Formats: sequence, structure tokens, C-alpha cells
Amino acid sequence: MKPEGEVNTTIDASCHCGAIHLAISTPPETLTDCNCSLCRRYGVLWAYYSPNQVLIVATEGAADIYMWGDRSIEFHRCKNCGCVTHWAPVDEHSDRMGVNARLMDPDILRPLRVRKLDGAVTGKYLR
Ligand SMILES: [Zn+2]
Repeated sequence: MKPEGEVNTTIDASCHCGAIHLAISTPPETLTDCNCSLCRRYGVLWAYYSPNQVLIVATEGAADIYMWGDRSIEFHRCKNCGCVTHWAPVDEHSDRMGVNARLMDPDILRPLRVRKLDGAVTGKYLR
């Protein structure tokens, strides 16, 4: 039972076929468009969260994982429809993950600032 007046802001981000859902209680503050060799190919917009803010509901065996470079993070995608859903740290003590905000309702994204991350070279935000 929610306290009176509390707005239910649960966001559902799901892959195209619906095998993987991510339930998130708060909208992203900003979005990140990264130009690294992987993100530019994926064409994703990242919204960063603590893993404890994101509930992942997936059909068993729905996801494939890709790792590269120092193999510190796993990129998850739906085996069925191919959508990249999120990245998660291998280190379970890490408090940061990235959700592909393109899986969210476009109405949520429209007002948000998109920051350009130079992941390819400097690792710094360009704007
Ligand atoms: Zn899918």
C-alpha cells in the first residue's frame, strides 16, 4: 500500500519481443550518447543507475552477453529480438549499471538532456 498522494513513477523498459523487462522507479536525469567503438554501433542512449534501482525480469535464458576490452562489464541483449537492454558490472560491489533508455517510452526521453560522452578517446563528456 502506497502512502496517499505518492505518484507511481515505475518505468518499464523492455526489449521489442518483451522477453526482458527492466522496472525502474525513477526516470533518468540525463541520457548519455557514447561514441566508443561499441556504443556507436549499438546506437544506444545510456541511463545510469545503481543496480539496486533496477529490477530485471527476464524469461529464463532470454539474454546473451557480450564482453570486450578489460571485460569489466557485461552487455546484455535479447537472444530473440536482438535489443541491447543494459550493461552490468562484473564486480558485484560496483554500484553502477547502464540501462538502454531507448527501451523506455519516448515520452520519458523527450525532455531529457542528451550528453555526448567521448568514450572513444578521452572518456570525458564533450557536452
Ligand atoms: Zn526480446
